[in-house]
Amino acid sequence: MDSYDFIVVGGGIAGASAGYELAADARVLVLERESQPGYHTTGRSAALFVQTHGPAVIRALSRGAKNFFLNPPAGFTEHPLLTARGMLLIGRADQSALLEQSFAQSSRHIDGVRRLDPKEACKLVPLLKADYLAGAVLDPEAMDMDVHAIHWGFIRGMRARGGKLATSAELQRLARNAGVWTVRTAAGDFAAPIIVNAAGAWCDVVGTMAGAAPIGLVPKRRTAFIFDPPPGIDIAKWPSVIDVGEEFYFKPDAGKFLGSPADQTPMEPCDAQPDDFDVALAVDRIQRAARIPVTHISRKWAGLRSFVADGCPVVGYDPRVDGFFWLAGQGGYGIETSPSMGRLTASLALRRGVPSDLAAQGVTATGVSPARFARA
Ligand SMILES: Cc1cc2nc3c(=O)[nH]c(=O)nc-3n(C[C@H](O)[C@H](O)[C@H](O)COP(=O)(O)OP(=O)(O)OC[C@H]3O[C@@H](n4cnc5c(N)ncnc54)[C@H](O)[C@@H]3O)c2cc1C
Repeated sequence: MDSYDFIVVGGGIAGASAGYELAADARVLVLERESQPGYHTTGRSAALFVQTHGPAVIRALSRGAKNFFLNPPAGFTEHPLLTARGMLLIGRADQSALLEQSFAQSSRHIDGVRRLDPKEACKLVPLLKADYLAGAVLDPEAMDMDVHAIHWGFIRGMRARGGKLATSAELQRLARNAGVWTVRTAAGDFAAPIIVNAAGAWCDVVGTMAGAAPIGLVPKRRTAFIFDPPPGIDIAKWPSVIDVGEEFYFKPDAGKFLGSPADQTPMEPCDAQPDDFDVALAVDRIQRAARIPVTHISRKWAGLRSFVADGCPVVGYDPRVDGFFWLAGQGGYGIETSPSMGRLTASLALRRGVPSDLAAQGVTATGVSPARFARA
């Protein structure tokens, strides 16, 4: 039986970034159930890098990831990982308080954040309806991510450091004897003293296999679709447009628009599929806010964003099950935080504490620890 120092369950962005960082110091195997590691949530995102949304710990992890994305290690990628986009949070009159709140929070960390009146917002996105808007907040530092390049950069980098990825290798059974886990998978049996649970929406399923108490993870479906802009309009440089109450968003995507109703429907872990009602809801909301007739939808999909009750990620050793490490609850921020989450995971799993730059941003081991659920 092949033995490793760490077996990581899940080959999405979480497992890949953790595998990449752990492989610098240890023998690592990443197990992925599907034949393609990006098949589930990682391959279904909207690819936005934002440092001004989510709970404080997410904003800290995203700030901590920016330098990696802009200056990745040599050989990590041949493409830029981030490209300029900008994000325009828009609000109606009944959302004015939310706009003020978002502006106050965002401008604390990003210097260039600006409050815009409807006329200024329409200058940036001329198809917005001025009479729909009460105002907007512009975050000029929001960017588009190349998710495929980031994900495969981690996988290639992990392999270069001696780590292995096994695909079509579903974890089926776990047993622990004398401080070592024996792992039965569809691709054979493996052994390691430590399991890293990076199974996305399935983290509680994998935790239960190890005998750990559930962390209360709730996978929530989010729908996205691609549609054509009106003919003759160049949208390439427009910012992403996001309703400040998260009722919908749309953003330029390779010459077309990507739209979403920003839905959050709780579900069991599964291969999530889009619901036509959610697509119709988004089309209606987008057309109320902008003069964009949605006539042709060329592609639609859905993915699961998984959250625990406090909305913060779960990173750390299980308080009761020896050698079982959680990397879960990335919600809607798993790509933008991945370089930080990978480093945090490796550092905590190797019992080196929180990396100093992340600690300086306010990330603490207790704030992300799975022990908070045992206490609750
Ligand atoms: C529509 C949408 C828009 C989003 N937009 C953004 C965005 O703009 N920015 C951002 O940062 N994030 C965004 N996200 C969130 C982001 O995509 C997720 O946070 C991230 O992909 C989660 O990664 P993961 O590796 O935890 O999960 P996954 O990619 O789902 O990976 C988990 C893997 O574990 C595997 N697995 C499960 N059980 C087993 C088992 N028993 N054995 C072996 N393997 C197993 C699964 O097959 C899966 O491949 C969005 C998500 C959606 C759906």
